[in-house]
Amino acid sequence: MPQTIRAAVCRAFGEPMRIEDVTLADPGPDEVLVAVKACAICHSDITYADGGWGGDLPLVLGHEAAGLVEAVGDNVSHVRPGDTVVVTLIRACGACHYCSAGRDYLCETVFDLDRRSPLTDASGAPLGHGLRTGAFAEKLVVEKSQLARVDPAIPFESASLLACGAITGVGAVTNTAKMPRGAHAAVIGCGGVGLNAVQGARIAGAASIIAIDLSREKLDAAERLGATATIDPIHEDAVDKVLAATGGRGADFVFVASGAPAALESAASYVGKAGTVVIVGMPHSDVTIGYNPSNVASWGQRILGSKMGSACVCRDVPHLAGLYGDGVLQLDWLVTARYTLDQINEAIAATRAGQGLRNVIVF
Ligand SMILES: [Zn+2]
Ligand SMILES: [Zn+2]
Repeated sequence: MPQTIRAAVCRAFGEPMRIEDVTLADPGPDEVLVAVKACAICHSDITYADGGWGGDLPLVLGHEAAGLVEAVGDNVSHVRPGDTVVVTLIRACGACHYCSAGRDYLCETVFDLDRRSPLTDASGAPLGHGLRTGAFAEKLVVEKSQLARVDPAIPFESASLLACGAITGVGAVTNTAKMPRGAHAAVIGCGGVGLNAVQGARIAGAASIIAIDLSREKLDAAERLGATATIDPIHEDAVDKVLAATGGRGADFVFVASGAPAALESAASYVGKAGTVVIVGMPHSDVTIGYNPSNVASWGQRILGSKMGSACVCRDVPHLAGLYGDGVLQLDWLVTARYTLDQINEAIAATRAGQGLRNVIVF
């Protein structure tokens, strides 16, 4: 039976979300119904809600979630009702050209849920399934590939970070860049994703990790996670400091975990010869930046795009949950504020203002 649940509905770009009673369809044979327990606010939700990527409205956003499985379709065997799960936006068939190459995040299969959203509003009009998840709601329905079971000992708020911030940040280092031990890493933008890139660099055995951000709070958090140098580029000479921290050579890997054009552009001045710039943050779709192709060619540099940490949900979520269980991956204290669904616009305003490390809606 379709259920009536409460959800935060985005009806106009740039306007506050509204809490409404909406109808959630039953899960199909390859789908899973999850009671949402925590959903972190990610900058991607905000960019979408601001109209930065275009797209259709109205819809329910929220894609960084953890919860309890409530019901599964007939073809679902990897999770059962009662399981604690992390819910991601990566929907993968396992068989297409990209999935076959391990690039699940680029899966080209069109699923039932891509054709029809499981959500309708009180008048029966369709509501979009934002970022393929719709987790700013008491419950959600997703395709079976979008979730992974985790140890129920992980607090839901911490587990929710595994869905996006952690797999995106750590995965940029380990999956996309395949950064070798002993490299000099720099991370520009130390929000929920960038801090996880700092952790990823530490886990990968970086020789040095230079954290670059405008916020002292975020730089302090980066130090706690393993950054060996921090730079506030407004008040310090960032290029000098990067050179000093890397024996005068520049960084081997620069991870840009910010969508700000100035941050994206600055990466070229920190990266050394044979160095790699990894674009991790998702700028608005109209942003372009300039770079010097002659330097890139003559210095043998690379520019890589990293979508969702090049993650495979069924491999990376359990792996990172294991690192959390071993005390290697920090998540708990990255959750700096909790809000109810009714307070979602406050949570978004705080995230937009750069307050806190990760703001989480708890149910
Ligand atoms: Zn996200
Ligand atoms: Zn596929």
